[in-house]
Amino acid sequence: MIEIVQSENSVLREIAKEVPITEITKPKIKKIISDMITALDSQDDGVAIAAPQIGVSLRIFVVSGRIFDEDFIRGQGSTEGDLYLKARQKDIVFINPILKKISKDKKLMSEGCLSVRPIYGKVRRATRATVDAYDENGKKFTKNGSGLLAHIFQHENDHLDGILFTDKAKNLYEAPEIANK
Ligand code: ZN
Repeated sequence: MIEIVQSENSVLREIAKEVPITEITKPKIKKIISDMITALDSQDDGVAIAAPQIGVSLRIFVVSGRIFDEDFIRGQGSTEGDLYLKARQKDIVFINPILKKISKDKKLMSEGCLSVRPIYGKVRRATRATVDAYDENGKKFTKNGSGLLAHIFQHENDHLDGILFTDKAKNLYEAPEIANK
């Protein structure tokens, strides 16, 4: 069981350090990425996680392949079991991500955080964004996102700069019914 640190932990307020490129494929980083995925998978509603959320101040985040599952997004007719029966899309690992090409077009969307349970609120974010990053094999790639994925890019990138969504959100509220026990 990998612990997901909560908002009172100061590691979430640090500016995370870059991963030296030559270390990306080393066992230490591989273990951190695998711990992040384990932690993310342990949360029924988890869509992404940043390394500081497991107490590691490095510039890494992982987006769950779940977000490409339409049933999961709609939040209906799909239990965790169903999700795994389908060919689940691969989780995407972003190392030393650089957020660029953020659209001027912005939208207020509901948001929560695995480290700020059980608070939700609405955050205004760009509807499209592009991230340059290294993958878990040390290969550089570019990923475009729109809608939920663009929103996730901005939320996770904020984690690497010590920012929590509650710093920016409007209408914060507690949602005990969807909080993890
Ligand atoms: Zn978060």
